[in-house]
Amino acid sequence: METWQKILQYSLTDPAALAARFNIDPAPLHEVAERYPMRINPYYLSLIQQVGDPIWKQAVPDAMELQDQVCHVDPLNEENQSPVPNLVHRYPDRVLFMISSTCAMYCRFCTRKRKVGCAEMAISEESISAGIAYIREHAEIRDVILSGGDPLLLSDEKLDSILSRLRAISHLEIIRIGTRIPVVLPQRITTSLVRILKRYHPLYINTHFNHPAEITEQSAKACARLANAGIPLGNQTVLMRGVNADPLVMGRLMQRLLAIRVRPYYIYQADQVQGTDHFRTSVEEGLEIIRALRGYTSGMAVPTYVIDAPGGGGKIPLLPDYLQQLGSDVVLKNYLGDTYHYTNAEPAGPADALVWQLDLAG
Ligand SMILES: *Cc1c(COP(=O)(O)O)cnc(C)c1O
Ligand code: SF4
Repeated sequence: METWQKILQYSLTDPAALAARFNIDPAPLHEVAERYPMRINPYYLSLIQQVGDPIWKQAVPDAMELQDQVCHVDPLNEENQSPVPNLVHRYPDRVLFMISSTCAMYCRFCTRKRKVGCAEMAISEESISAGIAYIREHAEIRDVILSGGDPLLLSDEKLDSILSRLRAISHLEIIRIGTRIPVVLPQRITTSLVRILKRYHPLYINTHFNHPAEITEQSAKACARLANAGIPLGNQTVLMRGVNADPLVMGRLMQRLLAIRVRPYYIYQADQVQGTDHFRTSVEEGLEIIRALRGYTSGMAVPTYVIDAPGGGGKIPLLPDYLQQLGSDVVLKNYLGDTYHYTNAEPAGPADALVWQLDLAG
């Protein structure tokens, strides 16, 4: 058995074991863990410094998960935008394809809390084949995002098989993997896994660090292995109360990500997912974080802040009000709040617009 498999095997799944270790009352946690599974592997557990810290909050069940009256089971309407099970086709040229139903840790804030780690999500070989066939039959799909669950929890052989079947589709230009493995189980990024992944370029990985304390020697090593294999690494962060809703914490996270060769991609406003309302912040707090980053630190450290629109409208970017006025005189505010003017050019005529549309189509 490989090291990462042993680590997973010793995961805590029963609140009683956790409670004994931290000397807390397990009673309120049992009911939560029955509804939304708990899995905390020894590596991620070792990052907890004290009860209630940002690592704890992401991993340990909270009684508030069952009190949430505000949120919805599937706020992004994923189930209705799935032409085949476990594949979401929301945008014109790309699909989200869930190939794994399990994770190396069950994050308390998960957007797919409704099903991740639950028996009903079990993803069969037939479902994976049906997803691949859908992509093969739809020539407009040039980008697939492998997701789940965590795709990198699949065995090397299974991943190899899925990736090779996808690569055989000529219209599929890029493959992306969305994974929290470099954060929660970096030992899974073995040299043999990396050897497989690098055969399927252009392949991108978006990982999911939420707090600077998640950047450790092990996670840095995992990211270095992937980057050395020529895999561009991005990061998606969920904005969360009690975890990272603070400009200083977020700034430090983004800078440390760049230092381990991971480019911040998105900060998500928390989705209205049932069982996660206690993590949600106001949109004003998110805008304030972007305002505190832009101009003050490397532009590469500033991700796009988005709301994934309830109902399945897709990701909508949000920016502080740098653009004050449009027209012939464009009025702008810089990061320090000073006002600047830019003399606008004439808008392009309809002929130019037509050429651009043809370009896109061709
Ligand atoms: C996030 C997402 C994508 C990818 O969006 P990008 O902005 O291209 O990263 C694609 N499909 C679905 C359903 C998504 O939720
Ligand atoms: S790793 Fe991702 S899919 Fe799995 S529980 Fe965490 S957020 Fe959800």
